[in-house]
Amino acid sequence: MLFKEKHMGMILSGKKTQTRRAWKRPMVKVGGIYKCKLQMLSVKYFAKIKVLKLWKEHIYDCSEEDAIKEGYGCKAEFMKVFEEINPKFLKETIKNKESPEIYVIEFKLVEVRCNDCGIELIDRNKAKFTKNFLDSCLCFGCFRIFESEQNPESTKHLDIKQYKKEREIRRKENGK
Ligand SMILES: [Zn+2]
Repeated sequence: MLFKEKHMGMILSGKKTQTRRAWKRPMVKVGGIYKCKLQMLSVKYFAKIKVLKLWKEHIYDCSEEDAIKEGYGCKAEFMKVFEEINPKFLKETIKNKESPEIYVIEFKLVEVRCNDCGIELIDRNKAKFTKNFLDSCLCFGCFRIFESEQNPESTKHLDIKQYKKEREIRRKENGK
């Protein structure tokens, strides 16, 4: 499934467990496991999720509780984001006098891997996200290497060679 970059961290931290899609028909199945991507044609993915529930509803029927499951503080905040992401859908349903029905997908995270070495990130709170790289969710060790490349001054006290050695081992184990 495709996600916006701003939603990646929310999914990885477990804050976002629902997504609403302006689909004509369901594109996922309950029980199915899907890769979360930022770019459609890319082979890269930042997580795998399992669909727990799937239903259709009027977009403005979203409850306050569900807006929080979308990863936002309240319904108004989430609606603003949905409207920004789906302007064409809302414009057309209003123009055609149709009800803006969407699909709600409730999911849970089943897998997160370091984008660099491929190790599974069991403790997601320890995963590091790099802002400069569009799709980077890194383990602690790979993040240290990334940091040393971005800002050598701030990491000169670290043994980067050792981190790199360990990364090679992880890469081999994970077929990278
Ligand atoms: Zn890594």
